[in-house]
Amino acid sequence: MTIRRPVVYRDAALAEGTGPSLRKGVSVLVDDRRVVWIRPTSDDGPLPPAVHIIDAGGSTIVPGMVDAHSHVTLPGGSHWIDRGADPPEELLEVAEHNGDLLGTAGVRWARDVGSPLAVDPRDGRRRALALRVRERWQSDPNRPRIRVAGTWIGHSGVLTGGLAIEADDGPALLKAASTQLDDGADFLKLYLDGPKKEEAPWSTEDVQAVVELAHGRGAKATAHSGFLAIEHGFELDSDAVAKMARQGTFLVSTLAIFRSWATFAQTTTLPRFVSDEGKERIARRRERAIESVHLAYRAGVRIATGTDFGGGSLRANHLAWEVESLVEAGLKPWEALASATVHGGELLSEPDAGRIVEGGPADFFLVHGDPLTDPTALWRVWRVAWLRD
Ligand SMILES: [Zn+2]
Repeated sequence: MTIRRPVVYRDAALAEGTGPSLRKGVSVLVDDRRVVWIRPTSDDGPLPPAVHIIDAGGSTIVPGMVDAHSHVTLPGGSHWIDRGADPPEELLEVAEHNGDLLGTAGVRWARDVGSPLAVDPRDGRRRALALRVRERWQSDPNRPRIRVAGTWIGHSGVLTGGLAIEADDGPALLKAASTQLDDGADFLKLYLDGPKKEEAPWSTEDVQAVVELAHGRGAKATAHSGFLAIEHGFELDSDAVAKMARQGTFLVSTLAIFRSWATFAQTTTLPRFVSDEGKERIARRRERAIESVHLAYRAGVRIATGTDFGGGSLRANHLAWEVESLVEAGLKPWEALASATVHGGELLSEPDAGRIVEGGPADFFLVHGDPLTDPTALWRVWRVAWLRD
């Protein structure tokens, strides 16, 4: 084991998702993966002996981001749906690659909202593959910290390809939820679209029983994810957003999906992206989705940021794209950064996630530019504290 020297990052700017202005001329001392102090560089002495000084001049320190809607075992790309059927050993390798991509993009936390079921060779039981990834990564401080939903629970005839556990009535739903918690899921993901478009697949009482089960089993507050958070929210109206604001429901936005699809008009030969009709459909859905997020923002709904990488076409290092998309939907850049940091932490009920505080984990990265006024700065990652120190 190597002894790590304390590290001081000197003369950087500091961007937090809590206000519109950078703090300039800041030094941050890190020791044993914790932030010891944050001081003005003009008055940062005395430094500990043997400290490693990093001249961070011209860069900006940003809290490690939270991808609040992701699929760590899947690769994304234009064939994202096909890849869900790849063999589990291959998907475990995909997860390791995604772990590298997340880290180098400044994403510290990922909320995995669904992975394929696979037989676990250790006990022969079929369980969500992301649970195995979580176990692998738990003991490695360089790896992303993940919270795992287990697999989807849906009504039969809604999700295809054997990806989901099917539950067609209250008792079956309760049993499916119980199995997921037995397997070690951090929260549950119910697929709330039914086989009939306008009808919920389960009654409010059935769903309430599942929420109580999760709470009774000590699952995290995010256990009732379908209710604490609305994923995507592409077609919200003013009634829906008013209700969400009242109930404190999070919206996890995934608008960059449409930006990604728009690029496929140039980079693929797939008719759904390349044809005029396909392009128009994507443009229409994109506009509606932007309007939807804008409504939620205006209503005061808390917004967390997701890529849907793997479960959609984005890759694991694309979270900056979603921050850009939120700015397009009307958020100020610093508010969009808050969505990708501190609000993501709130959604996960992880008080340290998305924040930089003295005594807290040194989970920050350094970029060039001011992400509080320009979200594209988040693409210009220079270094990542948790991968180095
Ligand atoms: Zn998804």
